[in-house]
Amino acid sequence: MSSTRAKDPLPQGEAPPEGSSRFARPKIDLWGSIPFLSVHLGCVLVFFSGFSWAAFVAFLGTLVARMFGITGGYHRYFSHRAYQTSRWFQFVLAWLGASSAQMGPLWWAAHHRNHHRYSDTERDIHTPAVQGFWYSHMGWIMATINEPTNLAAVRDFAKFPELRFLNKHYMIPPVLLAAALAVSGLVLDIHMPHWETSAFQMVAWGFFLSTVVLYHCTFTINSLAHTIGRRRFPTEDSSRNSLLLAVLSMGEGWHNNHHRYPASERQGFYWWEIDLTHYILKVLSWFRLVWDLREPPPSIYEEARCQGRKTLR
Ligand SMILES: [Zn+2]
Ligand SMILES: [Zn+2]
Repeated sequence: MSSTRAKDPLPQGEAPPEGSSRFARPKIDLWGSIPFLSVHLGCVLVFFSGFSWAAFVAFLGTLVARMFGITGGYHRYFSHRAYQTSRWFQFVLAWLGASSAQMGPLWWAAHHRNHHRYSDTERDIHTPAVQGFWYSHMGWIMATINEPTNLAAVRDFAKFPELRFLNKHYMIPPVLLAAALAVSGLVLDIHMPHWETSAFQMVAWGFFLSTVVLYHCTFTINSLAHTIGRRRFPTEDSSRNSLLLAVLSMGEGWHNNHHRYPASERQGFYWWEIDLTHYILKVLSWFRLVWDLREPPPSIYEEARCQGRKTLR
């Protein structure tokens, strides 16, 4: 049913390094994962910094904007080319995605394309079906084997030098974001003292807590969206649709829809399937910042109707 999965050998440049195997659960690089784990530890800072509404707005703003960078940018654009945009706005999307501290756009897209190519087989880099829930949720990010970017899998975007630069220096956007939050907290502390915020508080809420919530809302799509929910389409993988996950991830929870037809910009195929990323992209298309938003073809809707009838019988 699903035409997105291939069982052919690993493409060039994707062979596992000597002495390791992609078919066994790869080793976790704890030392190399210290920055990733430290961001988690950084959440504790909110208990020391205290609360203010300014910090809460910074938390929500950085969460939603960067979630869109991941869902609308890294996922629907760089991984699936589900719509078109200009070169400068493509860079804006790449920067926004990178500010979420989930590595560079080429790294992210190459790994995600692997997931669709080998969904829920032993070659899938994150699948709860083969490697277990926690490995598919966050273990794979800490695995040494997944550190390099397979440029061969993203040749279409690797040709842009600015994207290669951002992919290599992926720490620049998150570090600058944390610095901007610190400066804004400092300015507010001086000029708006009744807002009762500070540089420390803005960084704790707007960077550390926001980044960790963003991490796990994104990661649920690799773990829970292959574990809980309903299956509209009998795809060869274990993808599922879940309203809860769609709300948490701004529309990515319609994962069974997405695995059935990954080329579609919208992942909620019907008006009642909430897909915030789709709404944002729609608005951006009115301003011609993005265009050619790809829809599921009528045959997919017909297939969905047939599956619905089968379920009723
Ligand atoms: Zn999936
Ligand atoms: Zn995808």
